[in-house]
Parts: sequence; structure tokens; C-alpha cells
Amino acid sequence: MSADLTELYQQVILDHNRRPRNRGRLPTANRVAHGDNPSCGDQCSVYLRLDGDRIAELSFDGSGCAISQASASLMTTQLKGKTTAQAEELYRQFHDIVTTGQTPGEISDLAAFAGVHTFPARIKCATLGWHAALNALKGDAAPATTELPSD
Ligand code: ZN
Repeated sequence: MSADLTELYQQVILDHNRRPRNRGRLPTANRVAHGDNPSCGDQCSVYLRLDGDRIAELSFDGSGCAISQASASLMTTQLKGKTTAQAEELYRQFHDIVTTGQTPGEISDLAAFAGVHTFPARIKCATLGWHAALNALKGDAAPATTELPSD
């Protein structure tokens, strides 16, 4: 990745951290899940309104490090309007990006987190909001955890 692109991607993270998108409880939510990353102290709740199989609206709320909050904010912008299957596919791409640093061919804001792969402890921060969102989609009432063996 070129230096310019790295800088651009850092701007994406800083911007989401300064001005989080879709932050706060969603009054119309019909699915809610909470995620917890004890290794860093991050918390993230995801609220979404599922309309059939499509995510009509979603929001997050939480506290923690810049990576966890910026990632959750970006996640809400990526998942709006997506089906459950599309959301799972996006998460698979994002997980690849943060664990390998390899970015997909097309430029995506998700690639802003490619640098996370050099800080393995931060992968859990970056994926926390996504875990919560996927659990909310499954209608799983159990808290999301970043301590899954598959992680
Ligand atoms: Zn964190």
C-alpha cells in the first residue's frame, strides 16, 4: 500500500472516531446484542431493525479504544440495507483484512483497518462491533464474545 493510501485510511479511522456514525440507542430496533472485549475493556451494543431479511436501520453504542469505536461506526455504515448473508460476507472480508493485512481489489473503507494485523491484540477491538451485529442478526440473546476459538 502506498504511503498516501495509508494516510487516507488513517483519516478514515480518525474521522469515525471523532464523528461516530449512527451512535446511540435505536428506538425502533427489533434486534439488540452486546459485545464485550475484556482484554482491552471495550464494550459495544448493536441495535438493528431487521425488515424481513434486510437490515433497515442500525446503530451502535459503547465505549472503549479508538479502534473499537471507529470500527463499530464504520460497520454501521457498511451494513445498512444489507441482507444477513451480505453482512456475513462483509464480515468475512473485514476479518481477512484485519488478520492478514491483505485488502480486496477494490478500494473500500474497510481496508482502513488493514494496519490492525500488525497489532494482533487489536484484532479483537476491530471485530467487536461486527461480532455484536452478527449476533443481533442471529437473534442470539447471549453476549457476543471475542474469546471464541474460531477467532
Ligand atoms: Zn480495544
